[in-house]
Amino acid sequence: MSHPPKIAVIGAGPAGIYASDLLVRGGAIVDLFERMPAPFGLIRYGVAPDHPRIKGIIASLHKVLDKPEIRLIGNVTVGRDITVAELAELYDAIVFSTGAVDDRPLDIPGIDLPESYGAAEFVGFYDGNPLFSRDWDLSTESVAVIGVGNVGLDVARILAKTGEELRVTEIPDNVYNVLSGSKVREVHVFGRRGPAQTKFTPQELKELDHSPNVNVVVSPEDIDYDEASLEARSASKSVDLVCQILENYAIREPKEAENTLHIHLFEQPVSVLSSDDGHVVGVRTERQELDGNGGVRGTGKFTDWPVGAVYRAVGYRSVGIPGVPFSETDHVIPNDGSHVLTESGESIPGFYATGWIKRGPVGLIGNTKSDAKETVDMLFADHEAGLLGRTNFADVLDMLRGKGIRTTSWDGWHALDAAERELGSQEGRERKKVVEWEEMLAHSIG
Ligand SMILES: Cc1cc2nc3c(=O)[nH]c(=O)nc-3n(C[C@H](O)[C@H](O)[C@H](O)COP(=O)(O)OP(=O)(O)OC[C@H]3O[C@@H](n4cnc5c(N)ncnc54)[C@H](O)[C@@H]3O)c2cc1C
Repeated sequence: MSHPPKIAVIGAGPAGIYASDLLVRGGAIVDLFERMPAPFGLIRYGVAPDHPRIKGIIASLHKVLDKPEIRLIGNVTVGRDITVAELAELYDAIVFSTGAVDDRPLDIPGIDLPESYGAAEFVGFYDGNPLFSRDWDLSTESVAVIGVGNVGLDVARILAKTGEELRVTEIPDNVYNVLSGSKVREVHVFGRRGPAQTKFTPQELKELDHSPNVNVVVSPEDIDYDEASLEARSASKSVDLVCQILENYAIREPKEAENTLHIHLFEQPVSVLSSDDGHVVGVRTERQELDGNGGVRGTGKFTDWPVGAVYRAVGYRSVGIPGVPFSETDHVIPNDGSHVLTESGESIPGFYATGWIKRGPVGLIGNTKSDAKETVDMLFADHEAGLLGRTNFADVLDMLRGKGIRTTSWDGWHALDAAERELGSQEGRERKKVVEWEEMLAHSIG
């Protein structure tokens, strides 16, 4: 290599951090930009607070960000505080790893009623994301969750657990106060297809039963398989385990518990029902039956479920960055597995994508690692081929200072981390999150 390539990585979630690791292992130096004051993306602001083992991945990512060749530059929104064109001059290449933030829409009547929420909004609240609401209305006894994936399970589990149970986690005071005053007793999760077609993973499904306050209920009628479903079970150990766990919930004696979490399969939500004055009063579903190919078809039998709020967990969605191509149909940066592509399918020299912004919002944290390798291998191949270069050798921090942007740093994260641990230790917990943006900045500027 002629000189160590200088790379800007945009987004300090797991994808951006794994990519930075591989880049510096290959001899590059990295500036890792993050719009939030703190790094770690959806590990901090997506993974549920009662999943401390997954949140613990942050500890292993510390080892990466401790590397002197990686400089974390937080509190900078690329595309707003600094343009992609400006960065393209300062760096040999840019890796976009901006993940996903929004909810995918669900187009059914009533979905825009006031008590109908996207999962991302509720997750943002309970995970203490400063960009989301500090308060939440849990004054209704029955709620519906639409979607049978792990995010749906997270939302349902947090709604069904008691505030006291969650107090041991890192939730901030405003979240604890809301959850401990919750009136929710019944959580109804709806999925349109059968046990073999749910998107749950076995561990998350089984874990629902670990709470002494939650009785998980599945109707025996919802356990049904066709030829294609049986094939799916024999082809995947995970699918088979999920089916076994659902079967077990369906046949066992009900557990004595304060709250009930129902998982309804073969029930497709077709509308959210409204009162005369425009509030959610229920969900209407249409019963489905297997079509023999692992798909389903409607039976024409409708059921109205009285609920006072609806949460849709039908997937996250990425947003575009000004100055970078973005597919408004797939909601990803168009790419060939590594390079960013123009509308006509040509790669843009020096622009790469990785993580959820490249693949779409599916898969676990671990998947972003192999994904980053694919991206970074290609970047180094281009560097070897002499395809990368920069025209401006200034330091981006001077440019940001000139624009009046206050940036956070890796040392700053250590200070915020210590402050959160101290807040937690005063209550016998490992951590209590700081929520307010300015308060986060007060700890981590510099
Ligand atoms: C609710 C929820 C729960 C989950 N639970 C688990 C779990 O228990 N276990 C598991 O393995 N996986 C879980 N996942 C999946 C996991 O979070 C993802 O696989 C992973 O976070 C994707 O990584 P990423 O880096 O591509 O995106 P993200 O984690 O979204 O990171 C992207 C980062 O880019 C930043 N960014 C965005 N735009 C800009 C910009 N313009 N300028 C600068 N920075 C920007 C964002 O602030 C963010 O920090 C969960 C996902 C969700 C949504």
